[in-house]
Amino acid sequence: MGKYIVLLGPPGAGKGTQAEVLSEKTGLAHISSGDIFRENLKAQTELGKLAQGFMNRGELVPDDVTIAMIRERLSRPDCKAGAILDGFPRTPAQAQALSEMLAQLDGKVVSVPYISVPPAVLIERLSGRWTCRAQGHIYHSQFHPPVKAGVCDEDGSELYQREDDQPATVERRIRVYLDQTTPLIDHYRQAGLLVEIDGTQSIEQVTSALLTAVE
Ligand code: AMP
Repeated sequence: MGKYIVLLGPPGAGKGTQAEVLSEKTGLAHISSGDIFRENLKAQTELGKLAQGFMNRGELVPDDVTIAMIRERLSRPDCKAGAILDGFPRTPAQAQALSEMLAQLDGKVVSVPYISVPPAVLIERLSGRWTCRAQGHIYHSQFHPPVKAGVCDEDGSELYQREDDQPATVERRIRVYLDQTTPLIDHYRQAGLLVEIDGTQSIEQVTSALLTAVE
């Protein structure tokens, strides 16, 4: 049976950074809904064009579009053993759709680590965030700088600031998260799957708490 881990946490909690490490350590695929949308945006696919306005405004892409995209991704062979879901589900309807999809795939959600970080810290983190153009590796000008400014340590590609990491959009994204995604915390707590992790700790401390949570 496939083991699926849902990473919950506000934008800027470190889900992307941690999902990468978890994926390496567990061998499970890393599925980031935000990365898939950004790849489609870059390639200007129909999906990318559809998502663009929502993303730039810091709003969620509609559920039906997002669910269809994730259904297709989860059906690929590399997800058969399970996956780390980073950024999906984000609404109760998406959580419901996920549990239906996993039932069909003979998989289940085994753990839901929730990385919690207060809003003031999120704003500071997101406004200093730099993302690698080629593969989405993540840096912070102050807290996790690359060796050479503007260049990714891992693959040498250019680092850029995401359009939706602008201050006004950051605040909107945090509000959208509080309104639409926080109900999932209770949902997974009631299901006995939630493991709360203090996301203000160092990257290494959060990783080790996560590894304990998913083992
Ligand atoms: P992220 O990189 O996870 O912060 O996602 C960037 C943007 O992609 C979000 O602000 C949304 O516009 C969109 N997005 C990512 N995941 C989802 C999702 N599960 N549901 C709806 N929109 C999403």
